[in-house]
Amino acid sequence: ALAAPASAATQVNAGVYLDSRKPVKDRVEALLKQMSLDEKLGQMTQPERQAVTGDDITRYRIGSLLSGGGSTPTPNTPEAWADMTDGFQKQALATPLKIPLIYGVDAVHGHNNVVGATIFPHNIGLGATRDPRLVEKIGRATAEEVTGTGPDWSFAPCLCVARNDRWGRTYESFGEVPELPSMMTSIVTGFQGRKLGGPASVLATAKHYVGDGGTTGGVDQGNTQVSEAELRAVHLPPFRAAVQRGVGSVMISYSSWNGVKMHGQQYLITDVLKKELGFSGFVVSDYNGIDQIDGQAGFTPAEVTTAINAGIDMVMVPWDWKKFIDTLRGEVQNGHVSMARIDDANRRILTKKFELGLFERPLADRSYLKTVGSAQHRALARQAVAESQVLLKNDKNVLPLRRDDNKIFVAGKSADDIGTQTGGWTITWQGQTGNVTPGTTILQGIEQNAGKRTTVTYSKDGTGIDHSYKAAVAVVGELPYAEFMGDRPDGMSLDPTDLATIEKLRASGVPVIVVLVSGRPLDISAELPKWNALMEAWLPGTEGRGVADVLFGLHRPTGKLPDTWMNSVDQQPINRGDGQKPLFPFGYGLTYHRK
Ligand code: BGC
Repeated sequence: ALAAPASAATQVNAGVYLDSRKPVKDRVEALLKQMSLDEKLGQMTQPERQAVTGDDITRYRIGSLLSGGGSTPTPNTPEAWADMTDGFQKQALATPLKIPLIYGVDAVHGHNNVVGATIFPHNIGLGATRDPRLVEKIGRATAEEVTGTGPDWSFAPCLCVARNDRWGRTYESFGEVPELPSMMTSIVTGFQGRKLGGPASVLATAKHYVGDGGTTGGVDQGNTQVSEAELRAVHLPPFRAAVQRGVGSVMISYSSWNGVKMHGQQYLITDVLKKELGFSGFVVSDYNGIDQIDGQAGFTPAEVTTAINAGIDMVMVPWDWKKFIDTLRGEVQNGHVSMARIDDANRRILTKKFELGLFERPLADRSYLKTVGSAQHRALARQAVAESQVLLKNDKNVLPLRRDDNKIFVAGKSADDIGTQTGGWTITWQGQTGNVTPGTTILQGIEQNAGKRTTVTYSKDGTGIDHSYKAAVAVVGELPYAEFMGDRPDGMSLDPTDLATIEKLRASGVPVIVVLVSGRPLDISAELPKWNALMEAWLPGTEGRGVADVLFGLHRPTGKLPDTWMNSVDQQPINRGDGQKPLFPFGYGLTYHRK
């Protein structure tokens, strides 16, 4: 049976909880006292926005919505986003207690859900910059773009410590050692601002708690088979750093720890995260994450109870949310879940809503719409791209390219493709090739940076090169993917198309500079001797000119590898200091010597 409509609170006493001058603690308690069980269950429920219809939000007292990876098609202008989120919010405000929704999106490299937004490099590139202040600014810029379009909450940053490059989420990791994601928790301050509720303050999410990057074989959603000491030494530190920065929410990992799903790990969620680390925000499940606790599809009452009692406060239950509300109500009524636990979850969620100022400012702040894809944000992204480039080889100083009196040949499937250079989590979950959103391709950046009497010729597959050219730039690498779709259990080499393109350039006798657009190190050791230079560009985002800035020496290369670069794929997992001989060690990165 579906949940009965929540009964209207008989008499609403708005005195304390709607008074912004009162302390948040008092407001929370005053509100909680007036909430029925159904109103409390609604706060703990996060449906996918496409799974609510009619007056569902009002009727079921829903506390949160998301536009997740599975949410397609999305409205594709910033204004349409603001209209959409405001529409949902008005339904929440039509309830007797007028508790605003908190709307969540994956703004994981800029506000990547919205066509026209500034797309920053994926985290692996930011890890290469070793520049936490830059990363904080990126968080701020992203928060402004998100604020203009309505959401109040981003499911970022991913603080995974990616230990095996076969993993399809390696690019969401700032690096393979805990120090890098810990350092880059500066992005939490960027998202939230110095204090929640300040200008363009967006709730951040430390994810995925904990050990998502440590699974055996680098299998997404797999099993992290490590001692508690190793879990604490490698995977926990970034979460401690995020808690110290006041991160508002933490998302649980789909992965298991020693065979038990994280969504059921009471010790790690309640004892370690909430009590030991002192996390006072709220814990959200991953998308359908509670379904996986018992290994069978769909969720059972036992799984709901396990997850809530483990310490999950809000459940991302995208489609089956009515069943979730009914199930949880049943588990409360039969005593499997205590009212104290329900109240604790509500206190945590409501505290963040009050701190964010949602009761005072529930609607999109459209004054920030003008920041979406603004010149200022794109300039910041271009700088981030330049800082993230890692120069790995530069024989005979073939780089930097001369700006004037030059003849440059550019080839490769990744040279002129915004979708490829932005990667997964761009407009759609998996990302896609082609003109997915406005930006500058790497080829366009090269053309824009080329100076007097320099010609730039482009041919995607390399056809047409001859020995009259002075430099050949091959821009090649991975096509977009996200999550498990990017797992590479087998080889990790360049694809045959890329190898064929590079071969054509080589045959001309012109020096070949390879620019690799990839979410992780690839298995290139057999090819590298044939290349004169190699620059790792990661997944730079919309501002491809930052790559060209480094190619021409307008910005000297400063990026350092955030991951150890394998010599061959059977070395995976290969990590700093584990005794294997890498192709390039962790921290490697050349620069240009002044002439
Ligand atoms: C991912 C999360 C993401 C969520 C919502 C899940 O599949 O694991 O990182 O935040 O979807 O889109």
